[in-house]
Amino acid sequence: MEDKKLYDLAVIGAGPGGARAAELAAKRGLSVVLFEKDKTGGTCLNAGCIPAKYLIGAAHDLERIRMMTRDGMLRGSGEFSFRAIQRGKDAAVERLRRGEESSLDSLGVTRIRGSAKLLPGKTVECGGTVYSAKNIIIAAGSEPVRLNIPGAELMTDSTGMLSPERVPARLTVIGAGVIGLEFASLYASFNSSVTVVEAADALLPNDLPEAATILKRELETRGIRFIFGANAEKVEKTADGLVLTVNNRSGKETIASDAVLCAVGRKPVCDCVSEGCGIEFDKRGGIITDDKMRASADGIYAVGDVRGGTMLAHAAYADAQIAIADITGEGAIPDTNAIPRCVYTDPGYAAVGMTPATAKEKGFEPVLKKTPFSALGMAHASRDTRGACFAVSDKKSGVCLGFFLVGTGVHELIDVCAFAVSKDWRRGDWETHIAAHPTLSEIIRDTALR
Ligand code: NAD
Repeated sequence: MEDKKLYDLAVIGAGPGGARAAELAAKRGLSVVLFEKDKTGGTCLNAGCIPAKYLIGAAHDLERIRMMTRDGMLRGSGEFSFRAIQRGKDAAVERLRRGEESSLDSLGVTRIRGSAKLLPGKTVECGGTVYSAKNIIIAAGSEPVRLNIPGAELMTDSTGMLSPERVPARLTVIGAGVIGLEFASLYASFNSSVTVVEAADALLPNDLPEAATILKRELETRGIRFIFGANAEKVEKTADGLVLTVNNRSGKETIASDAVLCAVGRKPVCDCVSEGCGIEFDKRGGIITDDKMRASADGIYAVGDVRGGTMLAHAAYADAQIAIADITGEGAIPDTNAIPRCVYTDPGYAAVGMTPATAKEKGFEPVLKKTPFSALGMAHASRDTRGACFAVSDKKSGVCLGFFLVGTGVHELIDVCAFAVSKDWRRGDWETHIAAHPTLSEIIRDTALR
């Protein structure tokens, strides 16, 4: 094997976590080599957030057109071309990938295309060459969990549902988590008849039940059918398409459809770590790190989904920032207690901070306040009054503990909520804050001051 020069930092994986780490390190003057076996941008850019949000955006536009047609404001056939939407999505992804690559190149990051392997002694092998580095960051991401049931090979995963040849007339989704809900919502807009099968008893079981109930009702109003307390048992190919058998409280039920999406979670991808590197894994296969993202071997860090914790691109960005601050001794540490969570359904869901139940466990005396969007001028002006904002605060101190929103565009409103939670805003802070009128963001101040 050929030996190459020593780098300050080697990064395995060019998804949000790895690419952000490489950029931050290069900006601070470190020599960086970045390995990627597939495409720059990882799952988020190529098979996750960005292409999904493009489809979700088009689906939302379609719903707005339908609403205007229903209200007599627009006349037309309302026909759409799924192929043209797919082309637009692919072009947006391509443009962003080129931008990301040129940004890494202009910072002087050495990009190596190939499957990298972490070896003992702070070295990485890729394509027969061994690279040494003073520090190494593993940012190899995650992959969909596959259900081990008969007929599992007939199901598709989230990547497959981003680029199907055609819109399935009937879609069954297994799992009412983030991925399942987003695909259910967007395909309902593209005219699929959608059924969601979920093992738990409710949507988003770890979030605010009051908000999850509104979201469920709105999605049902859009024609999405939910079956809760149901475990997927098998999939069969029949003359009536793919038939999924589920085991629910009242016995067995079968659902026939043209596509079955399996969205039951994601798991860390750690096959880049070879034996003898001294890396420890948790029960779910994630790399164990301390709060500085240090893995159990000297000079080895892990960031993003590979840690098996909060599998969100912005959590991976935060991990990368923390790891680079530790390596270089420079840079601020992000507040990981205020990581926003967004579900891009129609209407959407966005949350940050604690539910009343969690707040109580932590010794607070939580107060829950609510404002419906129908109380807002801007919601009426934009002809969409669905949903509400919930705020959780501590009765004694008045400090903001959490926000939960259901409605259109709420993922754009959650940023100010994250700011307020992170900075421990109290009633008096909201009193001095001026929100622009008319905007949907007024709902946050209104709820906090209720
Ligand atoms: P998830 O863990 O959010 O949800 C999976 C759901 O499947 C759970 O509700 C679980 O109860 C259910 N389930 C599991 N086994 C089942 C079975 N046999 N039958 C029926 N239901 C079953 O996982 P996900 O939705 O696949 O998402 C994976 C990760 O990707 C998450 O960490 C998520 O945060 C992330 N992600 C985030 C976004 C976003 O931020 N908008 C978008 C996509 C993915």
